[in-house]
Amino acid sequence: MTTRRDLLKQLASSALALPLLSTLDACRTASRGPVLRVALLGLGRYAERVADAMQACTRARITGLISGTPAKLASWGAKYGVPESSRYSYETFDAVRDNPEIDAVYILTPNGLHKDQALRVAKAGKHVLCEKPMAVTAAEGQEMIDACRAAQVQLLVGYRLHLEANTLEVIRMRKAGDFGRMLFFQGQCGYRLAAPPTDWRRNRALAGGGALLDVGIYAINGARYLIGEEPRWVTAEETKMDPGRFGPGLDETINFQLGFPSGAVASCLSTHNMDHLDRFFLDGTRGYAELQPAMSYGPIAGHTQVGPLTREHVTHQTVQLDAMADVILHGKQPEVPIDGEEGLRDLKIIDAIYLAARSGRRVDLT
Ligand code: NAD
Repeated sequence: MTTRRDLLKQLASSALALPLLSTLDACRTASRGPVLRVALLGLGRYAERVADAMQACTRARITGLISGTPAKLASWGAKYGVPESSRYSYETFDAVRDNPEIDAVYILTPNGLHKDQALRVAKAGKHVLCEKPMAVTAAEGQEMIDACRAAQVQLLVGYRLHLEANTLEVIRMRKAGDFGRMLFFQGQCGYRLAAPPTDWRRNRALAGGGALLDVGIYAINGARYLIGEEPRWVTAEETKMDPGRFGPGLDETINFQLGFPSGAVASCLSTHNMDHLDRFFLDGTRGYAELQPAMSYGPIAGHTQVGPLTREHVTHQTVQLDAMADVILHGKQPEVPIDGEEGLRDLKIIDAIYLAARSGRRVDLT
């Protein structure tokens, strides 16, 4: 069977590409219902993965591109069938307001830019899809939520693991009582950041922080969706094994603990200076789950007290964009939310972890 991806490949360099693709999309719309039309903002490494995965989406497709690099706009435009009229620079993208081919803008830029760009997208009357971390502080996250509410657009976060099959199976088992009462979560999230000093991840203003915002967020998020409660307090200790590479405001390694209302606790490690850390462990009175890998692009694998987790792997970003389309077009909420409020909960915990690490004291969450 010829897929949309095959067709795109065949048509990429053809002058006939745009009209044929429009026909293809019109057919799809007629046969499968509405499709969420998405403009990608920031055409970097993760955007490349998202764009590729979106070729297999049935309910979302790329209809706009925003970049500071004209050559990228041209090459991505040809590759994904996005006409010049739907290509924008960072300076001109407020004009998406007048583009009826774009329903939503997916923000895939450095963390420190998310808030201001989200406010502009909301002001343009388009739904905001935003990469994690949604912003770099809870105050910024709240501003985004308020702006989207005022503009009556949705705000969704790229929490791909909230839709991942083996992760959802562990959540199903926990809800069914298979693990008994929750006691403990361990989240180890890290990699050795090899980026040069010019990379935004090593720039405090653009990154907003260090490993905690980049990967520690997965442990926070995992603790919440696997234990199934919201933490009440945090403690944290920061260490720097390589202070030469990680300057002020760029956390290299943070150990943090979370305390939950039931008495369950989480113990997590977030780092930009160690490889092979991609693991969640959940312990209850009657059983356990271990996911490893737990946060990378998968397949997410693991086992519980009854055996291996065997749900089929589907490219995370394909599932995520289709799920985002379901929320926006049909009001269908996923089992674990992916909305702005969910992003804000993580940011409040991140603020508290930084405060706890700085002060050396336990920080209560309200
Ligand atoms: P990247 O450096 O590969 O891409 C960033 C893009 O933003 C580039 O195209 C760059 O040109 C553009 N950009 C716009 N303004 C910029 C500026 N002032 N400085 C630097 N770059 C600028 O980064 P990435 O790894 O693609 O990360 C982008 C976002 O995606 C981040 O928020 C990151 O946390 C998130 N991300 C999420 C996942 C996930 O699994 N959900 C994985 C990787 C990255």
